[in-house]
Amino acid sequence: MTDPMTALGERTGRCQCGDIAYEATGAPDDPHLCSCPHETRISGGPAVLWVGFRKDGFSWTGPGGEPRWYSSWPTLRRGFCARCGTHLISVADDSEMIMLTGFSLDDQRGIEPVGHSFREQAVPWMAITLAPDPDLP
Ligand SMILES: [Zn+2]
Ligand SMILES: [Zn+2]
Repeated sequence: MTDPMTALGERTGRCQCGDIAYEATGAPDDPHLCSCPHETRISGGPAVLWVGFRKDGFSWTGPGGEPRWYSSWPTLRRGFCARCGTHLISVADDSEMIMLTGFSLDDQRGIEPVGHSFREQAVPWMAITLAPDPDLP
């Protein structure tokens, strides 16, 4: 059986209305939750699930082309569907990776958070069981 975390497959995802869709290839990297103040406000939820893919294996495939960009930090831009508002991606200027919102993926098999950024700022009622970090022995 192939381990979905390391399989070099292709993953697809989309916004709620389908205008913005994407394809990502290669192994998913560093799936994690983030409860930073930007993302809890943007998502309206207690955390966002992120998963990384290489920039060079990523493309936009939907009829709407690229998302609408918004910079929440000088070096970080986030992509949203201009029609339905779904938050799909965050791109840091100096990184070879892009981060996709885990729940915009069509198939989330094998994607479980191994970390939780800004955990100390998460709401106290949020309980999380993290997957074991594959990089640790
Ligand atoms: Zn949409
Ligand atoms: Zn964050």
